[in-house]
Amino acid sequence: FRYWETRKIKTTCPYCGVGCQMELLIKDNKVVEVAPSDGAANNGMLCVKGKFGYKFIDHPDRLRTPLVKKEGRFVQATWDEAYRLITDKITAAKDEFGADSIAGFSSARCTNEENYLFQKLFRAVIGTNNIDHCARLCHASTVAGLAATLGSGAMTNSNLEALGSDLIFVTGSNTTETHPVIGSHIKQAKANGASLIVAEPREIELAKVADVFLQIKPGTNVALFNGLMHVIIKEGLEDKDYIRDRTENFEELKEVMENYSPEVVAQICEVNKDDLIKAARMYGKADKGAIYYSMGVTQHSTGTQGVMAVSNLALLCGNIGKESAGVNSLRGQNNVQGACDMGALPGYYPGYQKVFDSKAKKKFEKAWGRTLSDKAGLTITEVVNGLDEKTIKILYVMGENPVVSDPDTGHVKRALDKADFIVVQDIFLTETAEYADVVLPAAAFAEKDGTFTNTERRVQRIRKAVNSPGESKPDWVILMELMKRLGYGASYGGPADIMEEIAALTPQYGGISYDRLEVEGLQWPCPTRKHPGTKVLHREKFDRGKGLFKPAEYIKSAEVPDKDYPYIMTTGRMLYHYHTRSMTKRVRGIDALYPESYIEIHPVTASRLDVNDGDKIRVSSRRGSVVTKAKITDGVVEDVVFMPFHFYEGGANYLTNSVIDPIAKIPELKVSAVSLEKL
Ligand code: SF4
Repeated sequence: FRYWETRKIKTTCPYCGVGCQMELLIKDNKVVEVAPSDGAANNGMLCVKGKFGYKFIDHPDRLRTPLVKKEGRFVQATWDEAYRLITDKITAAKDEFGADSIAGFSSARCTNEENYLFQKLFRAVIGTNNIDHCARLCHASTVAGLAATLGSGAMTNSNLEALGSDLIFVTGSNTTETHPVIGSHIKQAKANGASLIVAEPREIELAKVADVFLQIKPGTNVALFNGLMHVIIKEGLEDKDYIRDRTENFEELKEVMENYSPEVVAQICEVNKDDLIKAARMYGKADKGAIYYSMGVTQHSTGTQGVMAVSNLALLCGNIGKESAGVNSLRGQNNVQGACDMGALPGYYPGYQKVFDSKAKKKFEKAWGRTLSDKAGLTITEVVNGLDEKTIKILYVMGENPVVSDPDTGHVKRALDKADFIVVQDIFLTETAEYADVVLPAAAFAEKDGTFTNTERRVQRIRKAVNSPGESKPDWVILMELMKRLGYGASYGGPADIMEEIAALTPQYGGISYDRLEVEGLQWPCPTRKHPGTKVLHREKFDRGKGLFKPAEYIKSAEVPDKDYPYIMTTGRMLYHYHTRSMTKRVRGIDALYPESYIEIHPVTASRLDVNDGDKIRVSSRRGSVVTKAKITDGVVEDVVFMPFHFYEGGANYLTNSVIDPIAKIPELKVSAVSLEKL
């Protein structure tokens, strides 16, 4: 193609939560190239997925018509036929079993407007709070942990502030692979003179340039953070003025931290005691110490405790409410922050207003004209159990793929088999869609208007660049039609109208409207039309008044190695794939680099098993067994193995443990006991 024959549309990357701005180059209704755009979140950078990962958009596998399953096979159907079938089934289930027999999974890949409509469909039209999305699998513990200590469960600072930090502490995040542009900023900050501490079970790229690398045993985060606090308090490095003026419950924290001496912690975490002390002194003495964390902290049966421990550490040194410092929870998918903000959670209306708060309930009842349930709904993990126990009859999945993403795949598949009726709305026939009774073809990000909210709370536009294939439609159009057919008058001229309604009901989004998002988006809280948005949270005060120290005790992971399953398996993301690969496996150049699953094994473990690089190996846990390829590396320690979770064939989640954190209900995806067998 010739550049001068293309037109350019500015939009937001559909992959990770960094929220990079990009320009789609369009020729003849086709995206032919992507160029970086200088957004406030990305400083003109894109990673390999953003730059080259667009070819899924016009892939021949795209769903083009609704599909209905007849005698075990999908056949094409009209929209009218599909809508009628869905509304008949929903109405019948509601009449016979009640609204709580129906559940919906909303999507961190759909827009804010679509997430808002999805939860409105469930709450106001169907009459249940059984709505959740994949934040349950990644940052539910952040929402619970930071809300308890700070009053708000979101990243406190902004992407580019890494460049101004004098110390960066990365823990539970392989940032250069999972959030590559933020990873680049951290590397840049290090090159400019910032100190870097990394605490991870694997020797990730950032570990190689860190001043201190603590290669911790998976599942021991809480002990590590407590050990750092022990040293800081013992050496008087805490910020005494900040603790006095801005926090509460320090005495209890101090008492609990007594038990976490460097000797004790070094043994639990299997790290060098002197390195631990060195890291504590570095963080304790830093002026602008920023913590970056992700699912290595959150995906544990003690995930909420881990997040609270991170928050305690930052409060202890006065690092919250300060530029280039903070607690920076890196959200995984492009719009996982937005999906949470929009109330795609079982206990919250948009803006984290609780469903059992009578004032909030009345407000939404008035706005939506329907009586609402004050009973918190079921989480993803509970819905899967509900399907298994046959208390959930109907599941509606919009843009998620639980067969690949959720723990214990065998259990998920058995549960889906028991559903009376499943609807899947997506752009491809995913592994989950194979279980559906009706599949609805949706438009991709480049084919619709809307907004995503990135990890730093920035609400940014996506813009329609090309027409969607066949009869596929934007999710918001599909949801609006279903609402109408279920007897609820929903009429929006477009996503901008939906945002008007969101702004009217959601205090953090009160000042957000499409005309204000044109230049560089807006970071919430943005309560009024004149408000410029908020770069750093908790500057003057915390949402709950004072920052609360919530001391957390270290508790072992639910499953520890034994003679039958002697290795610890941990899981994570990789640079080249996104979530369950439904998009990236259809981008040939990217998929060719990593087309299949693998397991990282330390050379000593490998030699004990007589396994060489590339050998086929059976990995088994109490949940199942998969065959994958060995990758020998000293990036993991002896007897700890790592698998990326993106793959269905040889997938890590056949093995992972579905035990949950009792507060956030997040599963323990990061620690499972496994056995290895050379084939
Ligand atoms: Fe897209 Fe994330 Fe890469 Fe930016 S860093 S281009 S948002 S995948």
